[in-house]
Amino acid sequence: MSNGLLAGKRGLVLGVANNKSIAWACAQSCAAQGAELKFNYVGDALEKRVGKLLNEHMPKAGMFSCDVTSDDEIEKFFAWVREEWDGIDFLIHSIAYADREDLKDQYITTPRKNFAMALDISAYSLVALSRAAAPMMSDGGSIVTMTYYGAEKVIPRYNVMGVAKAALEASVRYLAYDLGDQGVRVNAISAGPLKTLSASAISGMRKMFSRYNEVAPLRRSLEADEVAQSAVYLLSDLSSAVTGEVLHVDCGYHAMGMYGIDE
Ligand code: NAD
Repeated sequence: MSNGLLAGKRGLVLGVANNKSIAWACAQSCAAQGAELKFNYVGDALEKRVGKLLNEHMPKAGMFSCDVTSDDEIEKFFAWVREEWDGIDFLIHSIAYADREDLKDQYITTPRKNFAMALDISAYSLVALSRAAAPMMSDGGSIVTMTYYGAEKVIPRYNVMGVAKAALEASVRYLAYDLGDQGVRVNAISAGPLKTLSASAISGMRKMFSRYNEVAPLRRSLEADEVAQSAVYLLSDLSSAVTGEVLHVDCGYHAMGMYGIDE
């Protein structure tokens, strides 16, 4: 058996789109700590892209289709996992989606259909995946999702995604309660901004990055592997008493109440 904080653990990673994805950074750190991994993908384009990444970097890791809007796909995904493994130790949920049109201008214009879709993919999917994963975590387990500060405070243009993240963070607490007696922990990482495919959908991201570096106490931007290292902590036994938590991995940005007045 390999060494590392996750040696002997088996985990599912949902949400790799490319090598910039937070899920990919998490996967690499988990693998470096000795975990065995399986992945999902959505659609033909991602099947090719994720398949190529795995071939190059993690040839032993398998992948299977799982669009989280479909209960049938979730069921088939876990049936595939059960064929290969008799149990799992962790699940990384790194999935979000909102219509690009709703991530500019005002929140008030969000159509009902788009609101439902954003909440379904970005928040309800954690509930559905946790329900499917928990029976496979007979020795306890750890579930980690990715959120953003826009759940807590208004970030202009983050709009419906902020509301979805608020639902996601509340779900983390309720799921932590539901699964706690089974020894399954559920936590979120509130990551600072990172240049990924999803982030490029939010209008004005460039301004957000430069402002961020001025305001965050560490006065610098964040690296995806810093989020990944915190994920390793939450997935490992080092965090055995931590559940229902939202861990800010954002160079301290969330700690600031006002800025620029001491210049
Ligand atoms: P990303 O685009 O690489 O990842 C988003 C993933 O969501 C993609 O793999 C995509 O395939 C998946 N997805 C979308 N719809 C899906 C569906 N119906 N079924 C299954 N998967 C679906 O971008 P990312 O920045 O790595 O985002 C990962 C998570 O991190 C998201 O929850 C995002 O909100 C969160 N986050 C990102 C940042 C940032 O600045 N990039 C900051 C804080 C939190």
